[in-house]
Order: sequence, then C-alpha cells, then structure tokens
Amino acid sequence: MKRKKPSLPEEPVKLRIHKGDTVEVISGKDKGKRGVVLKALPKTNRLEVEGVNVAIRHTKQRTARLPDSDGQPRMIPGGRIEMNNALHASKVMLVCPHCSKPTRVGYAFREGEEKASRRKYRVCKHPECGKNMDQK
Ligand SMILES: [Zn+2]
Repeated sequence: MKRKKPSLPEEPVKLRIHKGDTVEVISGKDKGKRGVVLKALPKTNRLEVEGVNVAIRHTKQRTARLPDSDGQPRMIPGGRIEMNNALHASKVMLVCPHCSKPTRVGYAFREGEEKASRRKYRVCKHPECGKNMDQK
C-alpha cells in the first residue's frame, strides 16, 4: 500500500474571527448553528466553537491498573466525554453584534488619530448596518 503524502500545511492567514466572537456555521453537519469562539488557531485556520463539532465519547467505568495508596482498587468513572473539535474558519461567518446577521468582515481605521497609533477595527459589511463590530 502506498503511503499517503502528508498534505501541505496551509498558508497561515490572519483570522478575521477572534476568540469570544459569535459565529454561524455555514456548511457541514452543524450548518445554521451559532456559537461563541472558544479558541482561534490561526496556524491551521481553524476555530473551536462552543457546541459545534462536538464529538461524544462514551467510556465505561473501569478499574485502574494501579491500586490506591491504601491498596483499594481505584475506579475510573465512565460516562460521556464531550470533545470540542476545531473546524475550518471558512465554514463559519462572523455574526454582527449589532444587526445579528452573519456577515463578511471589512476593516476600517479610527479617524482623528495619529497614523502610527491608528488601530484597525472590524466593520459589518451589511449595507444597512456597517457598524464597528469590535465595539459591542
Ligand atoms: Zn451589522
């Protein structure tokens, strides 16, 4: 059997979505779901979103291989373990905090500031909104 070539790492792109943002999933099995970004992984272009792409693992209660310090068998509790898997940033859209619609992101600079200290902020691309999304 031929070994599969490792896929090339993706070009790291500056993510337009940050930790704490609300996003809506636009493709995949969780399409239409909204959640808060728990973690942004710009190196792989992925995001961990609360309640999205959750894998549940069922584990059985079992006895640990090593007993307790006082010789009692130690039990490892079973149950459901929920794991949040990261999903690709292209599968989600940022939800504007002002018009609460999934939107594309634009950038603008604050006016009236010295050029060196100008800070970019994100704006809603929705024609009826256009508000600063970094100010809630
Ligand atoms: Zn908006």
